[in-house]
Amino acid sequence: MDGSLLCGFKRSTQLRRLPRSKQIIFFQENSIWNVVIQRIYLVFNLTWYYIAESQKTSKRTKNLRELKDNFSSMNALMTANGPSFLKLNFQSLMESQNSGEIKVFGINYSPLFDHGIRPDYVVLSDHYMHPRNYVETNIRFWKQINSCPETILITPTNWCNGKYFSQCSTGKCLHFNDIGAEGLVRGINPLRPRGYLSVTALKALAISDFMGFKEIGVIGLDNTFYKGLKVTQDLEMVENAYHASNGQHFNSQLGDFWKLGVSDYFFFVSLNFYFLKKYFSKKRYVNLDRSSLVDAFTKIKIDSHFAKLVRNDTDA
Ligand SMILES: [Zn+2]
Repeated sequence: MDGSLLCGFKRSTQLRRLPRSKQIIFFQENSIWNVVIQRIYLVFNLTWYYIAESQKTSKRTKNLRELKDNFSSMNALMTANGPSFLKLNFQSLMESQNSGEIKVFGINYSPLFDHGIRPDYVVLSDHYMHPRNYVETNIRFWKQINSCPETILITPTNWCNGKYFSQCSTGKCLHFNDIGAEGLVRGINPLRPRGYLSVTALKALAISDFMGFKEIGVIGLDNTFYKGLKVTQDLEMVENAYHASNGQHFNSQLGDFWKLGVSDYFFFVSLNFYFLKKYFSKKRYVNLDRSSLVDAFTKIKIDSHFAKLVRNDTDA
């Protein structure tokens, strides 16, 4: 555990008289109520979806539906933004991609672009990444995307809009169902409401599984973002970026988001592992980082065809 975090715990015992909003709360005494509220919201959301939105969503996922199990003779690589992303042998990846051996999925464009890789598919779902968000990192991201027309975007159905995406004007757009019903529905079919945590990397895993790739290598899905957590003297939680690239959105102030403090934050960390294990294990995923904390996937073996994609000077 990070030293400064432990420091935060010690300090909290001395600062009990701070306003409640400033305290670190050790136990989730309100969590049952929060869960009830969340469940009511999800049930309402899911009901509204089936009453009013399912037909529209079905139309918008038509192109993705046609790709079901289309790639059974090919492998895929899904790249997320954790530090293990830098273990990739980018030259070897480029060669494998150019020879048609592998399709590359990214959940961000810039880290791949910066290493000379043009992903075949980019899966987006963070509203911050939407092109209507005019901030520096996002403008750079969209410039890179637009410089590479062969990259295909896969976005939520509610992003379907010809004003922002040329492929939506031509009807060639790929969209997935991003209705959240965590814990209420099962499975990872991207045409249906999502029963797992709203994490873009998990959505990319679900989509690549749906497209039927023979095996899906995974790199950068580390779940180590908590290593960037700090607790200040004022008991504010701050999460410093702990990613392979800083070319992405990062809101370091966590206080408003994790109202129950550190326990709430680590509950979320645990959910990341829980949903991976629950819905994404025992499938065709291969973790290219042998030392990864994520144990839901088979770890890469020495004789794996993915082995050449990892640098020799790493421990994977
Ligand atoms: Zn569209």
